Amino acid sequence: MGEAFEQKVLELTKHGEMKKAACLKSLDNTILPSYVKRIQQNDRSVMKELILPKWVTWELLFDWAASKESASAKRCALCEELQEVGIDFNNKFVCDQCFLKMKNMQ
Ligand SMILES: [Zn+2]
Repeated sequence: MGEAFEQKVLELTKHGEMKKAACLKSLDNTILPSYVKRIQQNDRSVMKELILPKWVTWELLFDWAASKESASAKRCALCEELQEVGIDFNNKFVCDQCFLKMKNMQ
C-alpha cells in the first residue's frame, strides 16, 4: 500500500515538478482524518468536497489513504474492511466478525 503514491512523488521530483510533489507530500496536513477514513472506504464523493488539483486522481488519493491506515486498524483478509478487533490467522489478519463466521461454519 502507498506504493503508487510514493512512485508518483518520485516521478514528479525527477521531472522537476517540485510544486506538485510538495502538494502530494502536504496531503498529510491538508486532509482531515475524517476524510481519510472516507477515502479508505472508497467513498468517491470526497473528491467533490476536497479542493484538489485536477491531476490528483482518485487512484492516487486512495493509495495515499491506504498507506495511512492507523496502526491499530488492519485490513481483514476476508471481508477486506479495516477493522481494529481481530486475530492473526495463518499469518493473515481476520476480523472478529469473520472469525466468528468461520467458527460457525466448522
Ligand atoms: Zn472481516
